[in-house]
Amino acid sequence: EDKYFDKDCIFCKIIKGEIPSQFIKENEYCVVFKDLNPKAKVHLLVVPKPHVKNILETDEFIMNKVLETIKEVAKEQGLESFRIMNNCGAGAGQTVFHVHFHVLSGDNLEE
Ligand code: AMP
Ligand code: ZN
Repeated sequence: EDKYFDKDCIFCKIIKGEIPSQFIKENEYCVVFKDLNPKAKVHLLVVPKPHVKNILETDEFIMNKVLETIKEVAKEQGLESFRIMNNCGAGAGQTVFHVHFHVLSGDNLEE
């Protein structure tokens, strides 16, 4: 089971409960929690459970689960307008190398 995790990865530690965190949502494949440094009124991170470093290393199965989880959490949280963002690679601003999708909602997302 542990081959799915990286012992030095902060998101793996959150997923395994080694770092206390409040999940907005959890299912078999993903967890959703609030970004520590919110860039919008609502700033959630949707994180697949297996340790995969970036979007280039995902597959259709996990991306389908991510999409389902985003749709469910949007419905549950009453988000009518929102933005999905992914940073792939340090040059694009990726700082946590466990793939995750930002869901941003609130005011001033028009531009
Ligand atoms: P990225 O720059 O796309 O890799 O995004 C990483 C995000 O993870 C940043 O927006 C951070 O604020 C957020 N983050 C880092 N550590 C934590 C943590 N322990 N709990 C919640 N969010 C975190
Ligand atoms: Zn990880």
